[in-house]
Amino acid sequence: MNATQIDRARIESLVRRAIAGGSLGTPSASRPDLGLSQDPPGWVDGKPNLRVSISARHVHLTDEHVEILFGAGSVLEPDKDLYQDGFYAAKQTVMIVGPRRRMLPSVRVLGPTRGASQVELAFTDSISLGIDAPVRHSGHIDGTPGCVLVGPVGSVQLEQGVIRAARHVHMNYFDAEHFGVSNGDMMQLKVTSHECTTVFDDVLVRADEAAKLEVHIDTDEGNACFLDAASEVELTKGGCGCHK
Ligand SMILES: [Zn+2]
Repeated sequence: MNATQIDRARIESLVRRAIAGGSLGTPSASRPDLGLSQDPPGWVDGKPNLRVSISARHVHLTDEHVEILFGAGSVLEPDKDLYQDGFYAAKQTVMIVGPRRRMLPSVRVLGPTRGASQVELAFTDSISLGIDAPVRHSGHIDGTPGCVLVGPVGSVQLEQGVIRAARHVHMNYFDAEHFGVSNGDMMQLKVTSHECTTVFDDVLVRADEAAKLEVHIDTDEGNACFLDAASEVELTKGGCGCHK
């Protein structure tokens, strides 16, 4: 795609968005910082740049639980930025204790803090802990099992919040437009790897203003398709079988 084609595609995209949003004439009103010469978040050379990441087991904590686990006045200390802007792996880790005292030591805490604490495990993790964690989308923890979190200063009994995070794809509205999908739609991810090529259905679209195009799968899923050695990853709208 040459520069002229890119500009035309961008203009068409903006016009379609404006028409869809009923705001023709101010196509970038909701994103005043995004001019025609500037790519949407995560785009490279004028097009979406798909990234597929393995989300290893981790914990989200409330401010209150951070203080209980790490001491009064403690806050999460960013250690490593994640690909999505504003999110980070904290320096802090906790121990997760399941029934019959089975445990996982040193599980990373991700920041920033949230309104409810949540533990995200792969199926293999939940088996080793002895917790029957359901597949849920982040934040949907009603009726899920709990566990005990142990930090260097204190411990917290979570009544609920242990899940296997359902596969999903973060994207911004320009990515969504590119793929012809909306927030809440399901997509399909194909990972081409030597002798273990895998197609994942049920990849939930989580679209917002600022996200960069990134699929999150767990360690079991990443190992099954040998993501580290994949030669190609392909995200499609799926469903009708007409998309290649
Ligand atoms: Zn995610």
